[in-house]
Amino acid sequence: MTATTATQTIPASLHTPVIGWFEQHARDLPWRRPEAGAWGVMVSEFMLQQTPVNRVLPVYEQWMARWPRPADLAADAPGEAVRTWGRLGYPRRALRLHGAAQAITERHGGDVPSEHGQLLALPGIGEYTAAAVASFAYGQRHAVLDTNVRRVFARAATGIQYPPNATTAAERKLARALLPEEEGRAASWAAATMELGALVCTAKNEDCTRCPIAGQCAWRLAGKPAHQGPPRRGQTYAGTDRQVRGRLLAVLRDAVTPVPQSALDSVWEEPVQRARALDGLVADGLVEPLANGRYRLPMT
Ligand code: SF4
Repeated sequence: MTATTATQTIPASLHTPVIGWFEQHARDLPWRRPEAGAWGVMVSEFMLQQTPVNRVLPVYEQWMARWPRPADLAADAPGEAVRTWGRLGYPRRALRLHGAAQAITERHGGDVPSEHGQLLALPGIGEYTAAAVASFAYGQRHAVLDTNVRRVFARAATGIQYPPNATTAAERKLARALLPEEEGRAASWAAATMELGALVCTAKNEDCTRCPIAGQCAWRLAGKPAHQGPPRRGQTYAGTDRQVRGRLLAVLRDAVTPVPQSALDSVWEEPVQRARALDGLVADGLVEPLANGRYRLPMT
């Protein structure tokens, strides 16, 4: 079934069961509470990309306690953002969040803008994050397509087990077609479909017995045909440059003063890979080499 055909077969009646399920089963997460505000939503969205909720929670709490407003983060060194990011992975996100906080402070008086276009214009903010913040923080109508939502739509609407590796135009079109018309309901739908994918329609071992739309799910009704697309991307970590970068950064996060090359050399035996990883960190602005041959987290 193509996405176009699928949209014609999906009734708006999907909205009521999914939103109703969310109202009953949504997790009480700190960034969903009113006091989180738009900044809390933005911070959580940066952290949750590619990182599970249980790992994000402690870092989020620490982050918001230290930098409760964008201006607080903007006033601190980017290296402090990298340090507090800890072991969440993909630490360039910390630098991007710091850059966004600076732009919010300079351009918007310290308040996270509510307009999708202004959000998108912030450095480090892509289509997904702009839509998520506009929808979750400001209750606007946007298609919010994260991995979980894409999987739910692939199964329930398109009738396939997994979405393509990268988001396609057909998926965006489908997501727009499935959005409720009314703004507040669209925002609820975005949060609800994301939660459904995270808790019930998971990548492996989906629990259709708990699913509010099991009776309408195209993939389930078709007998759950096996995945036929290209192999899904693996999550290998051991032995990769990412692992080396993680170890090098851990040394710098734990250090209160700049560290010598020898301290970095001790964390990975293979010199070529180690040098490549360090060069990458420097090129990404995550590590600052000093004239005396020492290294530290970026201060400016
Ligand atoms: S019925 Fe199963 S496969 Fe279909 S959306 Fe629900 S949990 Fe996912």
